[in-house]
Amino acid sequence: MSLCNFHLTGKKIIGAILNYKAGFAQNATVPKQPIVFLKASSSYITEGQCIELPPGSTAIHEEVELGVIIGKKGKNISESQALEYVGGYCLALDMTDMKTINEAKSSGFPWTVGKCFDTSCPVSRLVSCKELPDPGKANLWCRVNGELVQNACTDDLLFSVPALISYLSSSMTLEPGDLILTGCPPGSTAVSDGDIIQAGLGDILTMEFPVKCAAK
Ligand code: MG
Repeated sequence: MSLCNFHLTGKKIIGAILNYKAGFAQNATVPKQPIVFLKASSSYITEGQCIELPPGSTAIHEEVELGVIIGKKGKNISESQALEYVGGYCLALDMTDMKTINEAKSSGFPWTVGKCFDTSCPVSRLVSCKELPDPGKANLWCRVNGELVQNACTDDLLFSVPALISYLSSSMTLEPGDLILTGCPPGSTAVSDGDIIQAGLGDILTMEFPVKCAAK
């Protein structure tokens, strides 16, 4: 494990949902506080590895997101101090089994399995805070087989990076290496065996992950 990729050593991956203002229809109810879920840290992959579609899955979606890597331990962190706890950033794909999630939601059960399958968290290299001095002005995009499907700026986040850190740390200790996925802009789409997902973070980096069916 390279030290420069210390984000892969974290214990927790915490994902936000419904966090882009553009994702809400007019007159939709907007959450008053962040809505989050946990993702297994065993789901990490890095460039050179493939996203493996679980056997029998039919609706695996890509979700390009800015990832925030915690740099030092903290609890009850104020928004004004939150960025002091950031050790860096990454670009991430929060791969999601929408069929499993929708079935769990309709039954009122937890949707963990739909977010935690192996290879469901492809991430880029660590991006330093110097490279991305303002996480509220990060441009991110995603292409599937060359077609642009997501293109957004984090200035459209409903809950900013400091707001997410402050909210999460009010209930759980954030530790070095923990990853916060800041949510998915509109445009997430289903992917299939043989697809190529490319994503980029401003002019800082691009990354590419092939999609294939997992061996049974
Ligand atoms: Mg997501």
